[in-house]
Amino acid sequence: MKILVIIGTRPEAIKMAPLINRLKRVPSIEIKVCNTGQHKHLVIPIFDFFGIQADFSIDTMIPNQGLHGLTAAIIEKTKPVFDKFQPDYVLVHGDTTTSFASALSAFYSGCKVAHVEAGLRTYNKLAPFPEEMNRTLNSQLADIHFAPTQSAAENLGRAGIIKNVLVTGNTVIDALLDAIELVNQNDAEIQYLKQQIDFTKKIILFTGHRRENFGKGFDDVFSAVKEITESRDDIMVIYPVHPNPNVKLSAEKYFEGNNQVKLIRPLSYGPFVWLMQKCHLILTDSGGIQEEAPSLGKPVLVLRELTERPEAVAAGTVIVVGTNQEKIISCTNRLLDDQSFYKEMTSLVNPYGDGKASERIIDFFTQIAAI
Ligand code: UDP
Repeated sequence: MKILVIIGTRPEAIKMAPLINRLKRVPSIEIKVCNTGQHKHLVIPIFDFFGIQADFSIDTMIPNQGLHGLTAAIIEKTKPVFDKFQPDYVLVHGDTTTSFASALSAFYSGCKVAHVEAGLRTYNKLAPFPEEMNRTLNSQLADIHFAPTQSAAENLGRAGIIKNVLVTGNTVIDALLDAIELVNQNDAEIQYLKQQIDFTKKIILFTGHRRENFGKGFDDVFSAVKEITESRDDIMVIYPVHPNPNVKLSAEKYFEGNNQVKLIRPLSYGPFVWLMQKCHLILTDSGGIQEEAPSLGKPVLVLRELTERPEAVAAGTVIVVGTNQEKIISCTNRLLDDQSFYKEMTSLVNPYGDGKASERIIDFFTQIAAI
């Protein structure tokens, strides 16, 4: 059986890495990896960390390219890869433009599509944008759906998708556990963090990059973070800034001269996991971080109006604060000052996975390969 894994962005690289590495060990499967280059500079260090090399690297990004151009480029440039490798299955992940455009392109080329992290929904096609639409369309294109949780599988069921749906857990937990094993304390980025950050203070790890927060959303979040740092000196905010200029330029403007907010480049995955372990709490609009944090016992305030990951909200380890300044400030201060509230949010139960999602996905393919 021939499987082609297509990734293009940081979260896809992280979440597919454990699956790629485990698939490589299965003798009955020939696996190749294609990188679309959507987040070229963020993906390469992740692949280096996990010891992966792309077999096909295509160039799809040009500066200031919109979603139309990117989608068209991915469809056009994945075709020769399908023609050359002739995969039985194309594995796409989640909800990125890479995953949707590759799934559509695979369908045009007559390849079967398997969708990892299938079934997440906010039921609002504009939030997150364009991810909600990407994953909804992926569900229509896919032949096999690997749902991370039971509620994701139920979302698929509501859309009439009941065949070839397997609940696997989320591969991000496999990646997190692999990273904890692989991380090297002597890593240059970890040394840099140790020199730059006063770890005697409570560390707030902050990340933000969602398209729907560009403009007013980020202005409100940045103002809230600024106000928190101006009102107390026992904290330090570390913000690995996403390279998207819409985020980077605005963050630099807000936090210039604020020595309690440290803007740093995006971290490689190992050092980022290390920093998550060291921090007190996390402010983020990221999806993956919401899934990882419960395994590390860290509370998360989600800077989005809606989340497609309701499980941790229900478990109490995550609170959705949106971009509302007052909510961000009051929840952050409460987590810093109220120990019993902090404890309630840091149970180590992770509803997203047990680290065995990749194994379950591989079992599914090896059973098909054996038929
Ligand atoms: N991450 C990382 N370095 C960073 C920030 C995040 O390796 O500087 C990891 C994080 O642990 C998570 C993933 O990137 O696994 C999340 O990616 P992102 O927030 O870009 O996307 P999303 O999960 O929202 O789709």
